Amino acid sequence: MTHFTGSVAKPCDFVLFGTSGDLARRKLIPSLYQLDKAGLLHDGTRILGVARQEMSQEEYLEAIRASLGQFLKEAVDDDVLQRLLKRCHYLSMDFTQPEGYQQFHELRQSAPDNVMVNYFATPPSIYGAICRCLHSSSLITSSTRVVLEKPIGHDLESSKVINDQVAEFFEENQIYRIDHYLGKETVQNLVALRFANSLFASKWDNRTIDHVQITVAEEVGIEGRWSYFDQAGQMRDMIQNHLLQVLSLVAMDPPVNLDADSIRDEKVKVLKSLRPINANNVFDTTVRGQYSAGFLKGQPVPGYLEEEGANLNSDTETFAALRVDIDNWRWSGVPFYLRTGKRMPFKCSEIVVYFKNPPHNLYRDSYRQLPPNKLTIRLQPHEGVEIQMMNKVPGLDETQRLQTTKLDLSFSDTFKDQRVADAYERLLLECMLGNQSLFVRRDEVEQAWTWCDSILRAWGDSHELPKAYPAGTWGPVASVALITKDGRSWD
Ligand code: NDP
Repeated sequence: MTHFTGSVAKPCDFVLFGTSGDLARRKLIPSLYQLDKAGLLHDGTRILGVARQEMSQEEYLEAIRASLGQFLKEAVDDDVLQRLLKRCHYLSMDFTQPEGYQQFHELRQSAPDNVMVNYFATPPSIYGAICRCLHSSSLITSSTRVVLEKPIGHDLESSKVINDQVAEFFEENQIYRIDHYLGKETVQNLVALRFANSLFASKWDNRTIDHVQITVAEEVGIEGRWSYFDQAGQMRDMIQNHLLQVLSLVAMDPPVNLDADSIRDEKVKVLKSLRPINANNVFDTTVRGQYSAGFLKGQPVPGYLEEEGANLNSDTETFAALRVDIDNWRWSGVPFYLRTGKRMPFKCSEIVVYFKNPPHNLYRDSYRQLPPNKLTIRLQPHEGVEIQMMNKVPGLDETQRLQTTKLDLSFSDTFKDQRVADAYERLLLECMLGNQSLFVRRDEVEQAWTWCDSILRAWGDSHELPKAYPAGTWGPVASVALITKDGRSWD
């Protein structure tokens, strides 16, 4: 197996605020290990882990070993581990109090030119306090970067507050907002598929495409995070960020080049073109659901309101399906159907592009309507690209018999020797390199919130409860009606 190739960033001090937390242990530390293994961390790069609890340097290194032992999806290579551990230093402090930040000065004296990349794996409510302390401790220069985890707010107003707090001390070109979907290999391939293949480039609009479906289905339920999820719901947790980011990449116009702002300029235009959903059209264009008890893979699973810590009166949605219209020249008349939910029959994220039928049906004796050509981009699992087309069944019979067949490009079969990097590996590397293409700009976040807030308001004002669906099914029956009333069906 070979690793993905890439450039080595200049030496940096990667400051991991919240190094003892779930995200750091599960994703970030294993990703740093993989980057080190691939030779993509500069020899001078250091990892400065910070959290509140008191820990000696030895205890911290032991904690890193334990995280890798638990979360790395392969055996730990001792040489790589030793190299990684040499980079790691632990600092204990309360992030909201400036006193502790003096410790950085002592460490940085030995490598003053290292670029400081501050990763906030902490609750967003303290992003502002950390920025203020970094500033008051004179730790911010024009090369200092901050990486922000989601959620950036729970609506437009609260996201503006967080963004303003950070913007008081950092310019936009120093701020890296994570949406880990953008780091997925398959999501990056979407851009290549669209803009490196003339086959699609000339066919990507309302003259050829009938509609698009984007599905992000999770098999898991709440995974012990009931109170966090209940504040958010599927709209805030999945649609406002991941699904709208994927939709923007599918629908955007060709960027001038692959620079961060060229791509983000095009994505934000799509977000601005989304037709508003409000009290006038919310019932025609959206369905919210909440799972009840059911069966998954033959095993009984509890309903959302029966999960540990549940509030019985919760009306939070664990499923949402939407018909989205993009009011611009390219997509006029082409609906995008989005659906995402928890406790679905299996985990799957995919984009399916349905093409229009040929203008005239030569096979009308056998087919009243020809099955459409379909392009399926599987984001996970079984990453790959599939095209459904019609072919003649070989044979000498008089009538021309056709059959739907699939051209299937499975990434794991095609790129056998290439390891597919985790999204966080790519994103950590990019923020060390100083490339913002895979990070979300402030105007994108705010535009997405503006659109989602209107739906959330309409749902709230309607006082209608989410529709129940048994765990292990594809959502409420109403979500089927949402698409069949347009004469279409879910893939
Ligand atoms: P955790 O609660 O598990 O970890 C929080 C970390 O922040 C701990 O290391 C904690 O240190 C530290 N911390 C919090 N407050 C302070 C403080 N005042 N001073 C010093 N240290 C502090 O959170 P997660 O790791 O789950 O999440 C971190 C961020 O990532 C959040 O914004 C979350 O929304 C986001 N995120 C998380 C995902 C996940 O899968 N976990 C997925 C996507 C986003 P100590 O223990 O010492 O108090």
